[in-house]
Amino acid sequence: MSFNALMVNKNDEGKTKAEVTQISEDDLPNAEVTVAVEYSTVNYKDGLCIGPGGGLVRNYPHIPGIDFAGTVESSDDDRYKPGDKVVLTGWRVGEAHWGGYSQKARVKADWLVPLPEGLDTRQAMAVGTAGFTAMLAVMALEDHGIKQGPVLVTGAAGGVGSVATAILAKLGYEVAAVTGRPETEGYLKDLGASRIVAREEINETVKRPLEGETWGGCVDAVGGAMLARVLGQMEYGASVAAVGLAGGAALPATVIPFLLRGVNLLGIDSVMQPYDNRLRAWERVAKDLPMDKLEAMVQPATLSDLPKLGADILNGQVKGRVVVDVNA
Ligand code: NDP
Repeated sequence: MSFNALMVNKNDEGKTKAEVTQISEDDLPNAEVTVAVEYSTVNYKDGLCIGPGGGLVRNYPHIPGIDFAGTVESSDDDRYKPGDKVVLTGWRVGEAHWGGYSQKARVKADWLVPLPEGLDTRQAMAVGTAGFTAMLAVMALEDHGIKQGPVLVTGAAGGVGSVATAILAKLGYEVAAVTGRPETEGYLKDLGASRIVAREEINETVKRPLEGETWGGCVDAVGGAMLARVLGQMEYGASVAAVGLAGGAALPATVIPFLLRGVNLLGIDSVMQPYDNRLRAWERVAKDLPMDKLEAMVQPATLSDLPKLGADILNGQVKGRVVVDVNA
């Protein structure tokens, strides 16, 4: 029986092309669990993998999609049986191993977690890797102690930023949301942001290594000049959970905020999280993310929409989360 997948291929000149193709189960890679995929999403990494440069893809032809949720169809591993609802993020799926832009996927049992109670497969993918990472970032801030001032979220209208804003607001923190898109102010306020900060206000080179102690914590999806500037604006002993580099990988900062203010820079990696951490984070998502807010973030899509959406996310044009119904 054949089924649909978004296949990316590379021609002799090194140019990549992504198109919806029919494949069969025999084409899938070897692994223990075959999943009937229901939903996947569009993350920044997916944009890189779909796009013309190929980005992070390790082998061609390739099926991108760094996350998915669905139902187990068959399993050679005792932990999963047919009918189980599962969710997958990370482990280089969609980069080195065929991913979720397919009606079926075959993956290692170790990479899956059971869908937590309170979430269906569509909600799990409305959260997706971006939202799961936002939860990991909030948990890291909690572990190190969130101080009194507002918690800053950068890249707030994007996937990580939107979910981080909604979770922090639900937990009772005052959230200041940094965005370069003024038209998203109403959206961000509906998610729970109490203050909108224009990107230009923060996104400039560090002039003084320390400024006023302004933020009690920060979830940073942008990196680059913005992260460098934010470090000097943190309260004494406060933490920045660094998640992404949508604004650049270079960090033009000084060591002064670490030395004179005891600021913590916490690196967040969603890819290699051990099973127990993943389960804990998904359970926290089910508990702490307001589902009505999640719905407001969602833009629906199909497999054939993906080439365009991959380009949009790299250009910072996607608002919130894109949920891909692979069977639509
Ligand atoms: P999105 O594209 O959805 O969001 C990124 C947001 O950053 C944009 O919406 C925009 O927000 C802002 N932004 C984009 N370009 C710039 C710029 N040049 N300067 C300042 N701000 C900018 O991506 P995600 O939220 O899905 O991911 C964000 C980052 O986190 C990416 O780098 C991604 O690779 C990384 N990531 C890391 C993970 C990990 O495990 N560490 C897991 C998931 C994602 P606005 O319009 O509001 O200004």
